[in-house]
Amino acid sequence: MDFKFTEEQKKRKTEYDGFFKALMKDAPPEFETGGMEASFGSDEGFEFFRDTQKKLGEMGWLTMAWPKEYGGLAATNVEQLLFNMSAEEHEAPGVEAIGVNIFAPGVIMFGSEEQKQRLLPPIARGEVVYCQGWSEPDAGSDLANLSTTAVREGDHYIVNGQKIWTTAGHRADCMYLLARTDPDSSRSKGLSAFHLDMNTPGIEVRPLYYMDKSHIFNEVFLKDVKIPVENRIGEEGQGWMVTYASMTTERSGFFLFTQCQKALNRVIDYVKKTKRNGGYLSKDPVIRQKIARIYTDLQGGKMLGYRIATIQDEKGIEALPMHLPSESKVFGTELQYELFSLATEIMGMYGAVEGVTHAPLKGMLEGFQFVPALTIAMGSNEVQRNIIAWTGLKQPRCKMTPLPAR
Ligand SMILES: Cc1cc2nc3c(=O)[nH]c(=O)nc-3n(C[C@H](O)[C@H](O)[C@H](O)COP(=O)(O)OP(=O)(O)OC[C@H]3O[C@@H](n4cnc5c(N)ncnc54)[C@H](O)[C@@H]3O)c2cc1C
Repeated sequence: MDFKFTEEQKKRKTEYDGFFKALMKDAPPEFETGGMEASFGSDEGFEFFRDTQKKLGEMGWLTMAWPKEYGGLAATNVEQLLFNMSAEEHEAPGVEAIGVNIFAPGVIMFGSEEQKQRLLPPIARGEVVYCQGWSEPDAGSDLANLSTTAVREGDHYIVNGQKIWTTAGHRADCMYLLARTDPDSSRSKGLSAFHLDMNTPGIEVRPLYYMDKSHIFNEVFLKDVKIPVENRIGEEGQGWMVTYASMTTERSGFFLFTQCQKALNRVIDYVKKTKRNGGYLSKDPVIRQKIARIYTDLQGGKMLGYRIATIQDEKGIEALPMHLPSESKVFGTELQYELFSLATEIMGMYGAVEGVTHAPLKGMLEGFQFVPALTIAMGSNEVQRNIIAWTGLKQPRCKMTPLPAR
């Protein structure tokens, strides 16, 4: 495969870069450090997120690889990847990850035509923010153990239960919910997927605070919440298949490699300009070796990302082997871990103190605190390795043992 970008693609990337460069000049101070906290941690940050999301939606950039009838531009996934790369490089908000990358693929693959017409265009126009209501206190890696119920009563389901770690649940308009529609079922059988309007009575969102009292994660309590039957995605009991399809796209994220490249560029710049013991750090053979190794691995990771986008373009999302996104997720998160560990070795602990004048690279390493969380989010790396062993290497499947009832 030849992964070189065409002249047209390079031109498009320059256009996105120009857009984001201009946009970020007006960004509120939260965006100096970036991350999800910038978008969802304060009202000002979220307002900027919403405005940007709408602008991107108007240009059709959020969902350019979708068919035109659902609000896309019928572009390739490689072009979408280039756009997302540019947004990430500029640490720009507005690319709504859960609606576009997790919920919508489930609707595209399993939704009815009526649902596609109704639910996809608002996502494409950048009008809605979704959160993901899957994990529960006793169902994280073992998601099939979830106990939130959705019991059918006429043309509605009545939902009761609790979700946890719901990123941006306090900002979201809608939730992508997974619940048990057959209360007598166990494990993955009897689950169904839903679109839930967060303004529905009976939903209580409670914050999970960081140490400094800011927050982006939540618990969501659902008490007798009514969901119309037409908001069930796929058949009743098909929820596991629907969410599996969504997980594949969730884990394919190229953003991990873009973030890595950006941080690596800054580290390289730092060692070129910084002297220690009379010589530039960039002349130190050990530092050179370690940086070169991370750079080499990064190229491998990017190739994996291009391969995933190319398979989707050539054969469709359904044809994407399940282990490839898992490989990308494990490789990308662990590469970030290695890079930040190396950067800490080079810069010392001040490197991780954001906002302090003598901290190297303005305390860029504070971002390191989030890297371990990424090895757990989107399904932990241990669980991804089980998937790679099972579906990629054809090893026997590792079955989860259900927790005893509390
Ligand atoms: C930053 C972040 C954002 C998140 N956002 C959301 C969100 O928006 N919506 C949502 O629904 N969830 C969200 N989550 C939850 C996330 O999906 C779960 O944390 C994750 O699936 C792990 O589940 P758990 O925390 O219950 O850990 P557990 O499942 O209790 O796992 C504990 C440890 O045991 C290991 N382990 C478990 N089972 C196995 C096994 N079979 N083989 C080997 N090792 C195993 C795990 O790898 C882990 O190290 C988020 C998590 C994080 C960290």
